[in-house]
Amino acid sequence: MQYPRNVLQSVFEYLKKLEGDLLKRKISLAKEDPFADTSRLNDNASDDTEAAEQNGHAQAVTLSEETSDSLKRVQQAMKRVDDGTYGKCVKCGEMIDTDRLGIDPTAELCVSCAKKAK
Ligand SMILES: [Zn+2]
Repeated sequence: MQYPRNVLQSVFEYLKKLEGDLLKRKISLAKEDPFADTSRLNDNASDDTEAAEQNGHAQAVTLSEETSDSLKRVQQAMKRVDDGTYGKCVKCGEMIDTDRLGIDPTAELCVSCAKKAK
């Protein structure tokens, strides 16, 4: 079984938009990272400022990693739309529940495989 072309088309458009949003988010996160500001290398920042920058940096890295993960998932889902395997569990090949895909269109495992993976 396969999803009709028009369904896949709208899924793909949705994923494409999601990818664009995530890419924008990555760029703005990179700008928010205090370590991205090269002028900080020359300033005589106090320890407090230094600590705040460390914190800000750690947060920016975490958020950026999360964004990269989501981006990867979205791109993999787009690839599956492309090669006609979208909606199939990558592990067992069963169709993934449409409710599940409705909640997370990038889901790559069926419910039972996802449970086993935990
Ligand atoms: Zn499965």
